Amino acid sequence: MRRDLLGRIQQIILFVSLLLLLVIGVLGAQSAGLPWASGEFLTGLLPSLPDRPRVVLISGHAGNDSGAVCTDGAGDVTVMEADVNAAVAKRVVERLGRAGNDVEIFDEFDARLDGLVADVLVSLHADSCVDYSGYKAAHRDNNPSPADSQLLACVDKAYPAATGLVYHPDTITRDMIDYHVFRKIDRSTPALILELGFLGGDGPLLTGSPDRVAQGVADGIECFLKPAAEKP
Ligand SMILES: [Zn+2]
Repeated sequence: MRRDLLGRIQQIILFVSLLLLLVIGVLGAQSAGLPWASGEFLTGLLPSLPDRPRVVLISGHAGNDSGAVCTDGAGDVTVMEADVNAAVAKRVVERLGRAGNDVEIFDEFDARLDGLVADVLVSLHADSCVDYSGYKAAHRDNNPSPADSQLLACVDKAYPAATGLVYHPDTITRDMIDYHVFRKIDRSTPALILELGFLGGDGPLLTGSPDRVAQGVADGIECFLKPAAEKP
């Protein structure tokens, strides 16, 4: 019994001594500037996690104005573009976030757009209250990059598939292809402005099924972020 106790005390003393020696050794090595004792060396030993793609969405008109405003026969407001854009943006963030992306929503004239470097930027807008139907997407008019074109190809494939909307090219305006955001962000950031549909003719889809609309946007972005071999 007594010998057991003595033996245990000896073990504890030996363990504490070894621990002290180790601490003294590491501290000594650190003060001597040996690389293996530095924090960088230790974090370098940990398996590095793959970078989460940085996705930026612009909730069209947010922080600035309401965009297109539709009214009924009595002159009462029925739908505002900025609300539609925000509802879709929120749902796209949820989908892409679950898929492991780092997603942020910016205002229309967000100060962070200046020189922005991201893996992809999509600005969400909706078209006027007229009784037309269809979506449209545009990238930089001025010298688009191959990545801009790939992003456009992905959205042109995924968005109509999810929403059932057709491409409506006749109404692409100067505002879209000379979009102020394209001039602010870094050229390396693939970017697109997407008119989700017409508040008039596509109103029931845009306000009634924002999840389907968001799926179309998220599918287009995920298609673009896939390895090159899997892109259309
Ligand atoms: Zn708009």
